[in-house]
Amino acid sequence: MDANALCRFIDASPCPAHAAAELVRELTAAGFAELPMQRAEWPLAPGRFLVRRGASVIAFVVRGRAPQRFTLVGAHTDSPHLRLKPRPAFQSEGCCQLGVEVYGGALLNSWLDRDLGLAGTVHAADGGVRLVRIGVPIARVPQLAIHLDRKINDDGLKLNAQTQLAPIWALARDGGDAAAAFAELLAKASGIPAGDIRSHDLSLFDLTPSALGGAAGEFVFAPRLDNLASCHAGAMALIAASDGDPLSVAVLACHDHEEVGSTSDAGADGSLLGSVLERIAIGLGRSRAEYLAALAGSTMISADMAHAVHPNYADRHEPRHKPQLGKGPVLKSNHNQRYATSAVTAAHVRAIAARAGVSLQDFVARTDLGCGSTIGPITAARLGIAVADVGNPMLSMHSARECAATADHAPYIALLREHLKG
Ligand code: ZN
Repeated sequence: MDANALCRFIDASPCPAHAAAELVRELTAAGFAELPMQRAEWPLAPGRFLVRRGASVIAFVVRGRAPQRFTLVGAHTDSPHLRLKPRPAFQSEGCCQLGVEVYGGALLNSWLDRDLGLAGTVHAADGGVRLVRIGVPIARVPQLAIHLDRKINDDGLKLNAQTQLAPIWALARDGGDAAAAFAELLAKASGIPAGDIRSHDLSLFDLTPSALGGAAGEFVFAPRLDNLASCHAGAMALIAASDGDPLSVAVLACHDHEEVGSTSDAGADGSLLGSVLERIAIGLGRSRAEYLAALAGSTMISADMAHAVHPNYADRHEPRHKPQLGKGPVLKSNHNQRYATSAVTAAHVRAIAARAGVSLQDFVARTDLGCGSTIGPITAARLGIAVADVGNPMLSMHSARECAATADHAPYIALLREHLKG
């Protein structure tokens, strides 16, 4: 069942680096092979290939020797969370704690009183990189007791990100050295001797496994649905799209750094995707003019989750644009270009939805509320391609624990597959 596969994918992907590794695992199992970015020659026999860089994965399917356009799905591997600082360990009031940075627009309250593990990469003096996952509850951000903050239910919770989010991870020992103890912890998790560890990139994550919930399993209760649900749907769609139009190259771009603005060597507001597309064209013997002509005829679906109407806050949605959980993928529009959907790409998405037998919902933000954004407008601007913003409805976006609908995942895959078939 697609939603169970999604839960497995999310639980195997506690941070962006693990999400990329998991995408690579899924794609490799389906016959994709890796093309190293640093190799000049890419042997592009018709087939399926992928490149990855850090925590971003770009996979593609070349279905013919003379393609005339790219058909793309874009998503992101990162989610808002708490991330460790370079020298995280310190002691305070008898506890060992960790200094954390808030990555992206996290709902801070959702990180309180959770059993937290640690996942990411540890880098050794010899240049080696280990993917690590401490899958036991080693850390916790304890909430202040109500007895010590009597007005909290009336005044609301305000958290200072610098002083009130540091998790505890051990009791301090007399004469102990928190930094040395933390280095030993990383050595044990990574297999790299403490003295050889040069740096790390580690994320805290909630250990509660993803689950199908509700009276009939109709909800997906999980972390990082935004946007691992779209990465998973995109990968499943690409794997199933090898029988598409040979005149179109199908591409899945799962970028890191969307939640922090996309400007990086791995993000959508960088050169990565454009250089991969151009190298595909070069590998197929196309001229630069032919590459630019192909871009002009290309279309992307920026696949990112959408705001379902919340039954307790229904007035936060625009009338007639209230996507509901379980009613299918959402086409997102914003004339101020926070979403890249145009009338042309909206018509395209409605056409492929009809072909795939998928019912669509519409979202536009209330005029008096700001609108979120995605990699859609960035990619449209960078590459000059037509983009539509689409995503499944969900609640609790950017919480450590989010909620979507079980029934929506299969139609999402079907819609993206119909698009990727070209
Ligand atoms: Zn997102």
